[in-house]
Amino acid sequence: MSTVTAKSIDGDQTTIAESHIEKFKEQLRGELIRPNDSTYENARQLYNAMIDKRPLLIARCTDVTDVTTAVHFARDNHMLVAIRGGGHNGPGLGSCDGGLVIDLSAMKGVHVNPETRTVRVGPGCMQGDVDHAGSAFGLAVPAGIVSTTGIAGLTLGGGHGYLTRKHGLTIDNLIEADVVLADGSFVTASESQHQDLLWALRGGGGNFGVVTSFQYRAHPVNTVYGGPIFWDQSEASDIMRWYREFLPTAPEALSTFLGLKTVPSTAPFPKEIWGRRICALISCYSGPVDTAEDATKPLRRDLPAPIFDAMGPMPFTALQSMFDPLLPKGLQWYWKGDFIKELTDEAIEAHLEHAAQTPSELSLMHLYPIDGAVHRVGQGETAWSYRDVTWSMVIAGIDPDPANAEALTTWAKGYWEAIHPHAMGGGYVNFMMEEGEDRIKATYGDNYKRLVDIKRKYDPINLFRVNQNIKP
Ligand SMILES: Cc1cc2nc3c(=O)[nH]c(=O)nc-3n(C[C@H](O)[C@H](O)[C@H](O)COP(=O)(O)OP(=O)(O)OC[C@H]3O[C@@H](n4cnc5c(N)ncnc54)[C@H](O)[C@@H]3O)c2cc1C
Repeated sequence: MSTVTAKSIDGDQTTIAESHIEKFKEQLRGELIRPNDSTYENARQLYNAMIDKRPLLIARCTDVTDVTTAVHFARDNHMLVAIRGGGHNGPGLGSCDGGLVIDLSAMKGVHVNPETRTVRVGPGCMQGDVDHAGSAFGLAVPAGIVSTTGIAGLTLGGGHGYLTRKHGLTIDNLIEADVVLADGSFVTASESQHQDLLWALRGGGGNFGVVTSFQYRAHPVNTVYGGPIFWDQSEASDIMRWYREFLPTAPEALSTFLGLKTVPSTAPFPKEIWGRRICALISCYSGPVDTAEDATKPLRRDLPAPIFDAMGPMPFTALQSMFDPLLPKGLQWYWKGDFIKELTDEAIEAHLEHAAQTPSELSLMHLYPIDGAVHRVGQGETAWSYRDVTWSMVIAGIDPDPANAEALTTWAKGYWEAIHPHAMGGGYVNFMMEEGEDRIKATYGDNYKRLVDIKRKYDPINLFRVNQNIKP
């Protein structure tokens, strides 16, 4: 009997008969991609090129039946399994070496119901698919700020972006999810059924099953007033001090995040500022257009003259995809995050020291606002534990050149270590590499125990462990 060796669920090896794989292939309506197939190299690639994983099988599912078949196959063969949405995860948790990838990228489709202001989304959708489908109705689901990010992984980790201050995290707008559980059964989690599962999916990541459909609440958003303003980094100390006072006074419809970064040497930026280290404020005002100039006036009135100002009216979808060309698939990424409550003078000093040593033009530090509507949800109401912070910080070393990988990693780690004493302990799971169990526990805080209980109920064998894992 011909067999192949796969990575087992507990990290050992398991042997699978070729005939079982053949049968699995026949049962699937989607493709089963194997290392010798011409499509394999493309199919296994992740967004972060620093991660190079070689799964044994990639099941490109087309529907719930395919997902169920794949879950049964992994279970029956005691095989390591990863779930892939958009493949944008930093540490590459949408794939695994030697195991089975349940690839949901073909399960796209967005259905907008303008009457109920709800949106149903397939797990293979990107953020941009959701923004695009909603735009015809002037509706948007609060989520991230780069249109190529997978909506599935983003949602399950929490999801924050330009609409967060006004309408909450993505999980605060998640009202229902269809899930294939570890035993292959199918359930719908909502406020009226499997409430505990919905609670866990709201921030607990891919630990509890394969989500095959998401339903969200959407909000009216059309033309917004937004975009970036840059100052030379020599002004950063003053701008950061001003920003920490300004944010709590700003209307919730105005979301402004702060970045310490470098002007990319490319259009549309004027050549004379290419490569300059900067402090950036990047805004989105989603209130009534005729109030936008007033709401954003302090950014222009109270701060020194900027070196670049592209803030203005634009379609929400344009702002959502503004940074896509700078961040194509295939760059090297190493990132770390933390939740920040106060931006102290000492922290600002540490930021300035490390931001001045970026190892590449794309490397950055961003502080995303997590206040407003996020604070109106209780700490125990969803798995997302940090409801009282002001920012979600990310420090990301980014560059196209693999030879720069070590420098990116060293810089991001050193920067993070300098800021961590000024942070809250945990960080956004979607801005983490594989950082160990203590970090996951710190991130879920008081909610961790309940997550373990729910994991025990829905996935007692920890089939879904290629994630920021909550052990049953
Ligand atoms: C350029 C860039 C910009 C970003 N901007 C933002 C931002 O503005 N806001 C923000 O909140 N985050 C942002 N992120 C972080 C983003 O949320 C994470 O990278 C997230 O993991 C991406 O999800 P994905 O589906 O693409 O990832 P994948 O790599 O496919 O999956 C990530 C994790 O989710 C699990 N998973 C995926 N789909 C499912 C499913 N259907 N069922 C169960 N588990 C599943 C996977 O197993 C894996 O553990 C950004 C990331 C990048 C690279």
